[in-house]
Amino acid sequence: ESFPGDESGDLRPRQTPGVLYSKAKPTPVEKPELLAWSDDLAKELGIQKPNDQKDIDILGGNFVTDTMQPYAACYAGHQFGNWAGQLGDGRAITLGEWETPDGKSWELQLKGAGPTPYSRRADGRAVLRSSVREYLMSEAMHYLGIPTTRALSLVSTGDPVLRDMFYNGNAAYEPGAIVMRVAPSLLRFGNFEMLAARKEKENLQKLVDWTISRYYPHIQGEGDERLLAWFKEVVEKTAGLMVEWLRVGFVHGVMNTDNMSILGLTIDYGPYSFVDNYDLNFTPNTTDLPGKRYAFGKQPSIAYWNLSRLASAIAPLLSGTEELVKTLATFDEAFTSRYMTMMGNKLGLDEAKKEDAPLFAQVERMLSTVQPDMTIFFQLLIDLPLGLEDKVAVVAYFRESFYADLNADEKLLLCSFAQAYQERMKVNTITPEASQEKMRAANPRFILRNYLLSQAIEQLEAGNNELFLKLQEAMKDPYANKFDEFFAKRPEWATSKAGCSML
Ligand code: AMP
Ligand code: MG
Ligand code: MG
Repeated sequence: ESFPGDESGDLRPRQTPGVLYSKAKPTPVEKPELLAWSDDLAKELGIQKPNDQKDIDILGGNFVTDTMQPYAACYAGHQFGNWAGQLGDGRAITLGEWETPDGKSWELQLKGAGPTPYSRRADGRAVLRSSVREYLMSEAMHYLGIPTTRALSLVSTGDPVLRDMFYNGNAAYEPGAIVMRVAPSLLRFGNFEMLAARKEKENLQKLVDWTISRYYPHIQGEGDERLLAWFKEVVEKTAGLMVEWLRVGFVHGVMNTDNMSILGLTIDYGPYSFVDNYDLNFTPNTTDLPGKRYAFGKQPSIAYWNLSRLASAIAPLLSGTEELVKTLATFDEAFTSRYMTMMGNKLGLDEAKKEDAPLFAQVERMLSTVQPDMTIFFQLLIDLPLGLEDKVAVVAYFRESFYADLNADEKLLLCSFAQAYQERMKVNTITPEASQEKMRAANPRFILRNYLLSQAIEQLEAGNNELFLKLQEAMKDPYANKFDEFFAKRPEWATSKAGCSML
């Protein structure tokens, strides 16, 4: 099926009403060199590792085969709560779709491959720092079992890119790099919002129909019924993703509606970070508003708000809005049921029942007050000796996860939780071993901590890929103890370095 597109190939920045995409060829770079390659993903796709420069040239945007029809998608978005109008792929160019032998189709996209009509005042490029972060983290999320876009390759360009490093305030040249991003589709809420805002109802209907038939093919019916069934699934997937982020302590950092995948994938790896200490107010985004709109604990409610923007966008396609509003409201139930199951797994319960809700609230309150290292705390919890009730012993047991000594109130919170938890475990209907197994599957032992990424990037910029390669291995097995050299709290020196540039 074909959508109206801007076929001119003109890369000058502009508004593009009436079209869903603009043809845009990657702009060649000085010297593409392959820095990293995702073997597992390549196998899944049936793509061979590049063995000559011609192949690497494709990954660097220097060569476009005649089977490719590169384009940049036109989308809009709400940024930090405000309508931002047309945004679009300003530094991402889709080369085309790749079909695997088993019939799955993947969108292959270069991120950082040069300007497009949507680059506005920016350069269409990505620096090594941000490309390494996208490359490693999207793959790490995959191995954590979390829905995400993937990354097939990381290529350095040999071209310097000018960036304003706002943590030291100086503009500086940094090495450029390009990631090949891969997903069944990179469609965002913003693609739908763009067409709705322009009142291009026919295009909007076309995009919705295509999205459903292509990515939600099991949805039957027609008209309102079909559209609502689809929206309900988007609500469910999005709610499920929020629960998964909470499970591992992931903070996206820029949950604008243009960064919300219509498939419920984690998309756009910018200033993201895991939490180290369990702080619901933590955001890695130094440009976030004073109210920290995109903080760790706010993600579910922001996801809901973003879904309501999507609902507004598709509303014109419906005969009324009553059912749409009801469908949007299913977010609560979709989120809560998944959250309960997830918490039950994290705590090793046989089954999360309604009566367990207070225990979950208790652990959440305790964690957000005491703020232990989230990852280490849950690892310790797995091996908590049953019957450990002495208060001094409980505090000592979890000490390894604390960033500071606990005061009396904090000790009390921790001990009351430990006691309530032990009570619950006494009536658990599965064996302690089965319970621990559940916990090990729900609680990662290795996470790509922000300071580790920073170190790896610093080393890479100096020509040393040792830590990068190690992290690339460790992230493939995040629930195992194979890489316990990384099983440690964030070091003191890294505390002030939490922020990272978005670009
Ligand atoms: P983000 O905050 O990453 O979601 O980006 C918001 C918008 O800015 C998107 O339209 C991006 O394509 C665009 N953008 C970000 N960085 C660049 C860049 N270096 N060059 C051109 N466009 C960019
Ligand atoms: Mg984005
Ligand atoms: Mg981005």
